[in-house]
Amino acid sequence: MFRSYPPVLCLIALNVLQAAGLGGVVAFGQTAPPAAPPGVIPAQVPVTPGLRVFDASLVDTTVDPCDNFYRFSCNGWFKRNPLPADQVAYGRFTELFEVNRLHLKQILEAAAAPAAAGSANPNPRSANEQKIGDEYASCMDTATVNKLGLTPLQPELDRIAAIKTAAELPALLAHLHSIGVNAFFGMGSSQDFDDSSSVISFYNSGGLGLPERDYYTRTDAKSEEQRQQYVAHVRTMFTLAGEAEAQAAKDAATVLAIETRLAKASLTITEQRDPQNLNHPTDVASFSKELTHFSLGDYVAAAHAPAAGKVNDTEPKFFAEFNSLLGDTPIKQIKVYLRWHLLHAYSATSLPESFDHENWNFYAHILNGAERQQERWKRCTSRVDLELGEALGQVYVAKYFPPEEKQRTLEMTLAIEQAMEKDIAALDWMSAATKAMAKDKLHAVMNKIGYPDKWRDYTTLRIVRGDALGNGMRAHQFEVARDLAKIGKPVDKGEWQMTPPTVNAYYDPQMNNVNFPAGYLQPPFFSGKEDDAANYGDMGSTIGHELTHGFDDQGRQFDKDGNLKNWWTKDDELNFNDRADCMVKQYDAIEAVPGVHLNGKLTLGENLADLGGLWLAWLAWLDKAEAAHLDMNAKTDGYTPEQRFWIAYAQQWCTQTRPEQLRSQAQGDPHAPDEYRTNTVLTDLPEFAKSFSCKQTAAMVAPKPCRVW
Ligand SMILES: [Zn+2]
Repeated sequence: MFRSYPPVLCLIALNVLQAAGLGGVVAFGQTAPPAAPPGVIPAQVPVTPGLRVFDASLVDTTVDPCDNFYRFSCNGWFKRNPLPADQVAYGRFTELFEVNRLHLKQILEAAAAPAAAGSANPNPRSANEQKIGDEYASCMDTATVNKLGLTPLQPELDRIAAIKTAAELPALLAHLHSIGVNAFFGMGSSQDFDDSSSVISFYNSGGLGLPERDYYTRTDAKSEEQRQQYVAHVRTMFTLAGEAEAQAAKDAATVLAIETRLAKASLTITEQRDPQNLNHPTDVASFSKELTHFSLGDYVAAAHAPAAGKVNDTEPKFFAEFNSLLGDTPIKQIKVYLRWHLLHAYSATSLPESFDHENWNFYAHILNGAERQQERWKRCTSRVDLELGEALGQVYVAKYFPPEEKQRTLEMTLAIEQAMEKDIAALDWMSAATKAMAKDKLHAVMNKIGYPDKWRDYTTLRIVRGDALGNGMRAHQFEVARDLAKIGKPVDKGEWQMTPPTVNAYYDPQMNNVNFPAGYLQPPFFSGKEDDAANYGDMGSTIGHELTHGFDDQGRQFDKDGNLKNWWTKDDELNFNDRADCMVKQYDAIEAVPGVHLNGKLTLGENLADLGGLWLAWLAWLDKAEAAHLDMNAKTDGYTPEQRFWIAYAQQWCTQTRPEQLRSQAQGDPHAPDEYRTNTVLTDLPEFAKSFSCKQTAAMVAPKPCRVW
């Protein structure tokens, strides 16, 4: 799957889908014109899950809040919520995700039903209902998927088998990329780093079957073991596809050898966080000259991408190695590698259950510790959300997202933006010149809440009941074509990178916008029935988090229009780096699992956003409380308003995590584990310690607090 420069996904680990065993690749999806209310889906009262933003019953009063605030705030939740066998981590976000998923299931079952009942149904489905319903039904129909076996994939396997020379590779690769196969590299559209008003092609490193490059290079015993387990997994997939044992073993070794070369030439995920490292503008002609063993012209022609013009070779070292690899690797081995990635792309829910289970076993069970595979309906619901997200999301929003929620979120966002403006003005380490630029950037932030103003049109995507694999391929082709069609056109700032039911949020540095999907804007993160202390401590801190991303170590490098352009004075930049360095050291020192420390540089942007975001929410809430003459000594449920603000912040992070998942997260996720997103952040805020009268020597008070924003 192509990877454009990623927006900052803020709340949930990026490997959740992979950990859930969806693995492989799935396209984002969309649908039809404005909002005709769906015909066959019954109106329904939203399910009230009984989740609260501030919940005193979750607090464990036997724990000293100055000793471990996370345990103090969350122990009650932990007792009530043992980690389900099918989850690798289970917290408030997954709690809400599961509620949303039940809602989506009801929508999908209703949309799938008419066809099942036969053609005489009196309520014809809308075009979107046909697509989401038939895709869900196809995914759920394991009898057909099992019966068909590898047959639907055979034309693709044949296509790989048929090539005789490396000269045929570019066209084949363009086709494989169009159906979502992550072979060698990715190509997609993105805003030009130097001119955010222009959309160009980005060529990205890719082609790995393990989660990221360091899985191939680490030398500790656990990592060695994981690589052996990976080779065993690839071997099993080949045998399931009909290869003899000995051949499958040989082929699996070939896959690891090729991927290891690609991995070693790729930037680390920490290096990839710096956009300067990924900005290497060139043009098709010059880039072609670098790739002496690969005809870029043939590739772009087959991909229907522009044959000329500016492109970004994001990782020149990677593409040099890709070129060498093609020059010295027999075509037979290249074909083995491509076959593996084709099987991998379609193993989850499109191929027979033996493939599906083997895929789960490696990615969810071995790498992340899941004990049981998620039920099929859960995975099929997630699949439709990924492939047809705005078709499904349109129905979801109509049923479960009241317009007043959008208004409330907007009001809170504006209040927090005001707090940020005051905070910038008060900074003692930044010059007036840089402050003026920061304010301009803040004023230019676009707030997007709930769902797109204009829904994606899926008219040309054909979904056929009973053809799970074909639907998956067409969904990819639809998404890739949609993405490439953006090249050379004006930027669509209304586009969303997340679907409406998603329980998450993001900041996009090139768009300079914050995005809060409808799925997130509900309890336990926000409730119109609860007071400001709870809502600002929880969702307010997330709004502040997203805004702060515009000014973190990545975001601060982009100007108000989303161009990668330095607007800082030299001194201010040095001051920023000094302060950021305090946080790098603070998180580097945390040993998340025995032998594995957090990566302070990798997690810097998220940690900065957590600390800055909570601080902004606090400032905004204090202003509101003062305006409302709130009695700061009046206790509710045994806690002052200040204490309830902090507890609500902490309770959003209550999460049970398997040790395997914790290890994956510590090694590769830009987010620190939730315990540190609570405790470490709070130790840096003396205001927190004051609210609970913590002594200077308490564990929840940092001897030398860090502070950037
Ligand atoms: Zn974030």
